[in-house]
Amino acid sequence: MVFLNGEFVEQKHAKISTLDRGFLFGDGVYEVIPVYHGTIFALENHLQRLADNLGHTHIPNPYTHTEYTAIFNTLLEQHSANEHQVIYLQITRGVGEKRQHSFQNLTPTVYIRTDTLHIKNEDTLKQGYQATLQKDIRWHHCNIKSTSLLASVLYTRTAQEMGVEEVILHRNNIITEGGSSNVFIVSNGVVTTPPKSNDILAGITRDMVLKSCEIAGIVHKEENITTQELWNADEVWISSSTREIMPLACIDTTSFDVATPLWQQVYNTFQTLKNV
Ligand code: PMP
Repeated sequence: MVFLNGEFVEQKHAKISTLDRGFLFGDGVYEVIPVYHGTIFALENHLQRLADNLGHTHIPNPYTHTEYTAIFNTLLEQHSANEHQVIYLQITRGVGEKRQHSFQNLTPTVYIRTDTLHIKNEDTLKQGYQATLQKDIRWHHCNIKSTSLLASVLYTRTAQEMGVEEVILHRNNIITEGGSSNVFIVSNGVVTTPPKSNDILAGITRDMVLKSCEIAGIVHKEENITTQELWNADEVWISSSTREIMPLACIDTTSFDVATPLWQQVYNTFQTLKNV
């Protein structure tokens, strides 16, 4: 069962118009929200980011916080609380009269579904992952969690072809983020991540990693990272709702430390935040 435009329907019966602007133009925004043992993680933060993104794209927010929560809970009732879940929520501008870029006031199309979330356990994460550094060729509104994900799709293809987990992106030798994650480096015990800007998505996990550093008393900064600083870093981590805090063992041919006491401390603190 999924939620589409006010109704709970079987996925196979969930149909949208070919004139939906999400289908035609990728004219919409989305959210991915993890649910740990039945508890929705950082719900406020996700709904606030959704509201901000709808504001940036001039799409009216169709539901209140309470209404979203009720829909999520109905969908989550389908699953056992023993498993982790993930909520996928997409809102497009709606269905136009014909295919044209301009739009009048339309009723947004809302699609929400839940799936089992397979997060990597600590021992798996600790082994570290591989990545590749690539030029960031995306537009300059990466702060908007837009459903127009062609660049991300192509980066994922590159990563798969190279047999690596993620692409790390740079604009003019300044690190922005991963293809679908935020980036942290650790140098001499200091954790640094690029500051929020139009060039990165303000990841909810990123905020939680910074909060974990704060709680654990680890020095952390939001500052630009050059490619040279990346290559010289002791550790590199990526974060996202589905990856949590993933240490990178290498980017291309450069290796980094993994499963260090510092990573462990931040990881452990992050786990405690999940349970509050
Ligand atoms: N940056 C990009 C480009 C992403 O697609 C994502 C998540 N899919 C993130 C960062 C991480 O965001 P979050 O921690 O909210 O999952």
